[in-house]
Amino acid sequence: MKKKIGIIEDDQFYDHRVNVPVQECPERLRSIYHQIRKPEYGDLFRFYPPRLAGTKELLSIHSGLYLDQIRNHCVTSNPFSYDKDTYLMEDSFHTASLAVGGCLTLADALLADEIDSGFAFVRPPGHHAEVGRGMGFCIFNNVAAVASYLRDVHGLNRILIFDFDAHHCNGTQQIFYNDDRVLVFSIHQANLFPTCSGGVEEFGEGKGVGYNINIPVFPSYGDNEYNCLLGKVLLEVVCQYSPQIILVSAGFDGHAQDSMSDLQLSTEWFGKLTRTLKFYSSIYSTNKLLYVLEGGYHLRYLTESVMEVIKALAEPVPDEVSFPFSPRARELITSALMPTLQYKWAV
Ligand SMILES: [Zn+2]
Repeated sequence: MKKKIGIIEDDQFYDHRVNVPVQECPERLRSIYHQIRKPEYGDLFRFYPPRLAGTKELLSIHSGLYLDQIRNHCVTSNPFSYDKDTYLMEDSFHTASLAVGGCLTLADALLADEIDSGFAFVRPPGHHAEVGRGMGFCIFNNVAAVASYLRDVHGLNRILIFDFDAHHCNGTQQIFYNDDRVLVFSIHQANLFPTCSGGVEEFGEGKGVGYNINIPVFPSYGDNEYNCLLGKVLLEVVCQYSPQIILVSAGFDGHAQDSMSDLQLSTEWFGKLTRTLKFYSSIYSTNKLLYVLEGGYHLRYLTESVMEVIKALAEPVPDEVSFPFSPRARELITSALMPTLQYKWAV
């Protein structure tokens, strides 16, 4: 029997909300859920109810002090008492724990071979959340919790996190900065939020040297430049690292119509990227792809881009993928990326 795409979706993820206009809002998921709940996708998906992450699972990536701070801010009357972006209200701790637990549920299903791939449609997003600090709409670092769980509970020691959100994954980077069992690879717009992280020179420390790769790109970069960069750099890294699983921090705010960045990615690009990842995974990894939703704030293009990913996940693995040549991307590789990458990787 054909296996399916595992999906985490639940109306409880709407419970984290405020009564003022904010970009990270329940409507993001409402729009996606409206599409994926259509009967025509009935045979394609296997839906899993999310579970709550336990304290031990949260403590594998966050400090106890931080968990206490979040609990305390959730009961104050001002939802912005913790941070100007990262609002917290009564249900936020519960919803954020459910987001982590949902991702862990999907990871278990993928490792048990119940599904071909998975997409966790959860919120709040997670990749900015550091060990002891939430920021940028993120409370708990969902994808980091999955990597930590796979490492500590399932014993995996070559886990790739690929983050294509327009913003740098400062939290994910920090959590695994000294760890060679989790390779964090991020492509993002340079000097966007958070402006203090995401440079090429942030390459890991100690055992983790070489296992943190940042590709900060210029604001006007779009499909062609991204494809050239990923075709050259990501391909080489996946080939040499041979990950046991690829976790994808999937942010859609690099779309040309999303006002949160100046990137120029098309809707179709997100599908092409997924085909590329499937192709890489089939040759150099284990065909296990788990997507976790991060950013993406233009409701229409977020949803359409997500559906491009779903469409690509449902297709057979492509026989080949091709990469265009982009002079601008090539220049970035030779002038900025290669000098650092070559300490560890043959690029
Ligand atoms: Zn983002």
